[in-house]
Amino acid sequence: MSSDCIFCAVAVGRIPADVVAESSKVLAFRDINPAAPTHVLIIPKRHIVDSVADLTSDHAEILGEMFELAADVARVEDLDEGWRLVSNVGPAAGQTVHHLHFHLLGGWSTDTGAPRLPDERGG
Ligand code: 5GP
Ligand code: ZN
Repeated sequence: MSSDCIFCAVAVGRIPADVVAESSKVLAFRDINPAAPTHVLIIPKRHIVDSVADLTSDHAEILGEMFELAADVARVEDLDEGWRLVSNVGPAAGQTVHHLHFHLLGGWSTDTGAPRLPDERGG
């Protein structure tokens, strides 16, 4: 655990969070500043790497557990119409917390749909 890492503090309960699901090594909790009707963060309880940029095949097991929990949360949150899993790397992509995490986003209506990602806005 990194002593100044917000998500390490969430993982041990030092910072309260609205936990929606957990498995042995993974925690899912609501983002404090939601960017979608449903916005849940999926984190490994241990600080294994700072971002997806540092992942290797050695992390296959924990990644499988993270994706499995994400799909479980999507089911429980009734996101059958569609959901998105996003991981930001670096300041230009908006990464602010340097503890591996995925944003699970969903809950948009099928009429309006999900917002387009920045690289889809074209130019
Ligand atoms: P990033 O910007 O690094 O991709 O994602 C970090 C996310 O963590 C942001 O969406 C931010 O709103 C969320 N966040 C930051 N601090 C806290 C906190 O203390 N509790 C919760 N639940 N979310 C947080
Ligand atoms: Zn951490």
